[in-house]
Formats: sequence, structure tokens, C-alpha cells
Amino acid sequence: MANSTECKHEAGTFLPVIDRNRCEGSGDCVRVCPVGVYKVDSLPKEMRSNLSIKGKIKGFAHRWQQALLVNAEACEACGLCIKACPEDAITLARA
Ligand code: SF4
Repeated sequence: MANSTECKHEAGTFLPVIDRNRCEGSGDCVRVCPVGVYKVDSLPKEMRSNLSIKGKIKGFAHRWQQALLVNAEACEACGLCIKACPEDAITLARA
């Protein structure tokens, strides 16, 4: 697990944003996040309708497993999840 002292911003200043058309649920973000922002679980049905055709095919192929935000307000904007994501699916947005 990464050291939370590497983080640069007060918790909640930035929030992670996950590109649902890119995420494949690899779970790298879960492993590297020092403050438990993510879990991998089934993408809720109501979040699937806005996906692109490619995103729907990808989601189906991965049994809808995606990174979900379970503790977004704890994000300290260290950027570790952005670097770790193999699909470049994560960005940070100012809260
Ligand atoms: S930037 Fe990513 S790894 Fe760092 S605290 Fe926020 S969610 Fe966790």
C-alpha cells in the first residue's frame, strides 16, 4: 500500500472521475489508493445505459466489473490511481 504522506491536497478538494467506457475493473486503483476510495464490483444497471456501444461490449465482456467510488471524499489527489490504471480511465476533478 502506498504511503498517504505522498498526497498533495486536503481530502475532498478533488474527486476521482472514472470513464465508464474505459474501465475494465482491473482493480489496480483499489490496490494503490492509500485511503480506500475504490472497490471493484458490478456496475449498477442504471449506470450502463449511457455507455457507448464499445463501452457496452467491453462491460459485458468483463461481466460489468468496474471500479466504483465507495469513499470519494477521502481522495487526497495523490495521483497514484491515475498512474496505475492500465486503461487511463481515471481523472481528478475539483470538487
Ligand atoms: S488520487 Fe487516486 S489513489 Fe490518490 S487518494 Fe485519490 S483516489 Fe486514492
